[in-house]
Amino acid sequence: MKIIKIKTLSIIFGLLIAISTNLIAQKNTEKAGKFELITLPYSSDALEPVISKTTIELHHGKHLRGYVNNLNKAISGTDFENLDLEEIVKKSNGGMFNNAGQTLNHNLYFTQFAPKSGGSPSGKLADAINSKWGSFEAFKEDFTKQGAGLFGSGWVWLAKDANDNLSIQLEANGSNPVVKGLKPILGFDLWEHAYYLDYQNKRVDHMNELWNIINWKVVENRFVK
Ligand code: MN
Repeated sequence: MKIIKIKTLSIIFGLLIAISTNLIAQKNTEKAGKFELITLPYSSDALEPVISKTTIELHHGKHLRGYVNNLNKAISGTDFENLDLEEIVKKSNGGMFNNAGQTLNHNLYFTQFAPKSGGSPSGKLADAINSKWGSFEAFKEDFTKQGAGLFGSGWVWLAKDANDNLSIQLEANGSNPVVKGLKPILGFDLWEHAYYLDYQNKRVDHMNELWNIINWKVVENRFVK
């Protein structure tokens, strides 16, 4: 009899914990808003020495978190709450546009890397790059040169149109090629917060190193989808 009572009590106690944990989780979800900070598909020190742990922690944990939080605040209680991220970037302006654009940009940016990767693309993406630039090396040179020439903060993207034609797109500040009806395939963040701690003002050195951590499988999937 005593054993049954203890068992019953422990079941009730367990249920209470489960219910309260669930309530806390629900509350946190509501607080977090529609969009959540993406989880990195690698540890924060995995991209060293190309991108340091300190830069990753600051860039993802502080900068991107700030953009996501500001975006959630900006859309709260508006019709934009019902749109997906790309639609918000296409249709918004001002502060909402800046934060939505930077959330989209960084979600694409952080998920295109992997430790000990790099090399060159294969398959249809490789064919498309070769037919446009002649070689992968020529593409990299053009991409890096255009990125180096961007004045101030922004991004350089490899993008494709509806017919799979590739182009290099420079975007100022938090913009993204989706505003031009293009699909972003690969993007380098040219804001100083992306490289200053590791490379100081040497943007080109940073860009040249980034090729060593590109996960081409991810980029190829973006191209064929
Ligand atoms: Mn950034």
